[in-house]
Amino acid sequence: MSTPRLEIRLDRIRHNARNLVGRLGSRGIAVCGVTKATLGSHEVAAAMLAGGSTSIGESRIENVEALRRAGVGAEITLVRSPMPSQVERVVSAADLSLNSEIDVILQLSASACQQERTHGVVLMVELGDLREGIMPGDLLEVAREVVGLPGIVLRGIGTNLACHSGVVPDAANMAELSALATSIEAALDVELEIVSGGNSANLDWVLDAGSGVGRINHLRLGESILLGREPLRRSVPEGLETDAFALVGEVIESKHKPFETRGSLAQAAFGQTLEPQAPRDAGTRVIVAVGRQDIDPDGLTPPTGYEILGASSDHLLLTSDSDSPAVGSQLRFGLTYSALLRAMTSPFVARRYLDADQTSSADEV
Ligand SMILES: *Cc1c(COP(=O)(O)O)cnc(C)c1O
Repeated sequence: MSTPRLEIRLDRIRHNARNLVGRLGSRGIAVCGVTKATLGSHEVAAAMLAGGSTSIGESRIENVEALRRAGVGAEITLVRSPMPSQVERVVSAADLSLNSEIDVILQLSASACQQERTHGVVLMVELGDLREGIMPGDLLEVAREVVGLPGIVLRGIGTNLACHSGVVPDAANMAELSALATSIEAALDVELEIVSGGNSANLDWVLDAGSGVGRINHLRLGESILLGREPLRRSVPEGLETDAFALVGEVIESKHKPFETRGSLAQAAFGQTLEPQAPRDAGTRVIVAVGRQDIDPDGLTPPTGYEILGASSDHLLLTSDSDSPAVGSQLRFGLTYSALLRAMTSPFVARRYLDADQTSSADEV
């Protein structure tokens, strides 16, 4: 079986989606499953939908198009503001997009008219994290303009926190979003179908929002469904599985080597200088054939008994506190969101989808 490869447990993804859909559903919140860390995998999208997600979110139009080509018929939201150069593709492949620039929405409108389609718009509001979003004081005027545009339906409003600055979704900023929804509806005599509170970072707030969730009725969830963690503290919400993804790499060198380097020292391949390390005994040095082109070495969890020393473009270096693994044997690693994203987008990493009745190969540690 080819290496390096990602092993993807679709049953775990289905389970996590079902768990979150159930708990959020009882609070009146629908789940949009975000596939962007998986290069728009239609297998992952299908697992999210089977688990009860009502729609799919993607950040890249190429991935949206790939999902459509694979036959995904569910509603798809482009979660990054469309590039003006891509509005035709956005209108043609995505049902709605998250937007913060009226110029882009005007272009979506023109393209929707030309294609005789309707495109949904969710207006993003800046609530403190300082990534995308319209300033709250400008929202009503933008909404008024959008409501009048041909080919466009104002589907709702939303916000995105904890992405750029780590601003925590809480009762105050969520109440602000709810109040904005209510005031737009009153001022423009429209109904906002979607009030999208944010991403996986909202789970802490929503799961113990004792005083209710206000108007929030939609969350866009990627990491919590895929990796079973909320991103504020990377804790595991009750009942979620964290092992849907594993990276399997192959040992290409396994030797007893000294601890100390030999020769004078300057910068290494990526500009780093070797940090002084606590002296230790000579030991087993292992090289796995995977590198920064494929993974984020800081985002890998090695098998028990192994420690990651570093990575260059193509070599991952580890020590082992037990016997040397045989050259050609395979090691399994856990991944963070960052490592998953890199592995999924590397053309060198194969994918193997597994379901509940299948197990991973026996020749791995
Ligand atoms: C990536 C992204 C999400 C999903 O974030 P997770 O933390 O993976 O749940 C939601 N909304 C937007 C706008 C995004 O860019």
